[in-house]
Amino acid sequence: MAFDYDLFVIGGGSGGVRAARIAAGEHGAKVALAEQDRMGGTCVIRGCVPKKLMVFASSFRDGLAEARAYGWDASAGGFDWPAFRSRLDAELDRLEAVYRSGLAAAGVTVFDARATVEDAHCVRLATGRSVTARHILIATGGRPFVPEAAARAGVLTSNDIFRLPALPRSVLIVGGGFIACEFACILNGMGVKVTQLYRGGQILRGFDNEARDHVAEHMRAAGIDLRTGCDVASVGTVEAGARVVATDGQEAVFGKVVYATGRVPNTEGLGLEAAGVKLGQRGEVVVDEWSQTAVPSIYAVGDVTDRINLTPVAIREGHAFADTVFGARPVKVDHGLVPTAVFTRPEFGTVGLTEEDARAAGPVEVYATTFRPMRSAFAGRPDRALMKLVVAADTRRVLGCHIVAPEAGEMIQLAAVAIGMGATKEDFDRTVAVHPVMAEELVTLRKPVRSA
Ligand code: NDP
Repeated sequence: MAFDYDLFVIGGGSGGVRAARIAAGEHGAKVALAEQDRMGGTCVIRGCVPKKLMVFASSFRDGLAEARAYGWDASAGGFDWPAFRSRLDAELDRLEAVYRSGLAAAGVTVFDARATVEDAHCVRLATGRSVTARHILIATGGRPFVPEAAARAGVLTSNDIFRLPALPRSVLIVGGGFIACEFACILNGMGVKVTQLYRGGQILRGFDNEARDHVAEHMRAAGIDLRTGCDVASVGTVEAGARVVATDGQEAVFGKVVYATGRVPNTEGLGLEAAGVKLGQRGEVVVDEWSQTAVPSIYAVGDVTDRINLTPVAIREGHAFADTVFGARPVKVDHGLVPTAVFTRPEFGTVGLTEEDARAAGPVEVYATTFRPMRSAFAGRPDRALMKLVVAADTRRVLGCHIVAPEAGEMIQLAAVAIGMGATKEDFDRTVAVHPVMAEELVTLRKPVRSA
């Protein structure tokens, strides 16, 4: 049977765009891609990229105070959100155009329309047109999840923060994951009074406990009213914003309420189940190690599969899919040892096992230090950095590295190379320190602080 295309990609985010470009540009496939919103997806339009630019914007309040300590005659006016936002919008327009031109250069046909799956080889566009393809790739990503009662009260999600016409004077952030903690720090840095409620005992569940404590302590010291073991009991709209009653009985009015209570895969109404694609409990597309679904001609990559929901992972999955299916070069994505950074203030970079998970797997030695980084110590700031290595007592391999410090994201990227290669503690020790930088602490950790 002759198909209109070799590949039809649904979703123009990180995973879908990479798959389309590699399949068409490198392997010569005839490819089409449909996107119902802006090209670039969550990462570029309402996630990693605008978030990181907001992290930079929010860092200058402390930066100015530091500059004064270093002798500069610097004084801060207020933060001009509309001015920042118009530059942000222009930057996102530029990036979206880069994505579009990359697809055009690879010869990919783009449909700016929602697409749904009709059957194993057919996609229907919202324009009414049906298109056939030998393979279909589902790369529709995810969206914020908000509990029903809060959704009814009209709370915001991370999607809305980038589009606020003005910054509120106060905000309540609900949740204790990546997004909640990052936006608590960003908005606090921009001068908004931030309260954060998290239902669990400590923020950033699943990460190394010592690092979680360190981040939480610094968030509180920076002025965030972080309350753990506490959730929203009720939220209602009032003229000044939202009146919130917490489960500890406290009541307050906030300019805005933001829920960062996780994300769910975008599979609703896509026609997947009718076509025979299996969905999991959270609505995710169930795939095998080749990103293939229960229907052999349909694949899925990225957040819609709810494996590891990070842009670089989606990109790898999209690339591996294209190489496997169109390049006759089977590639499986290794989902182990994925480094990541949480852009709190200070940043938190991590790779490998937490101390807790490593201990559960066998005897370990833990090397850790906290210290005042030179730059902030000079400026009289109290913040401390944490550097930590978790080492297997028998093989001496470094199983995990956890850094809470300015630029921890940059540092963990390089530590991940060494750890991925199987570096031992002695390999770290043999490496000559770069002086004076914070990361030299990682190669000068002499005695374990704990072993078991
Ligand atoms: P997470 O899953 O990381 O965190 C969700 C948080 O919301 C948890 O603290 C969870 O609590 C809490 N929660 C969930 N449901 C409820 C509820 N009904 N009521 C109250 N609290 C609730 O999701 P995020 O939205 O923060 O981030 C989604 C994903 O996006 C991340 O997992 C990550 O993969 C990715 N991401 C990565 C970033 C990066 O690389 N820097 C930045 C931002 C996002 P509990 O712990 O008790 O379950």
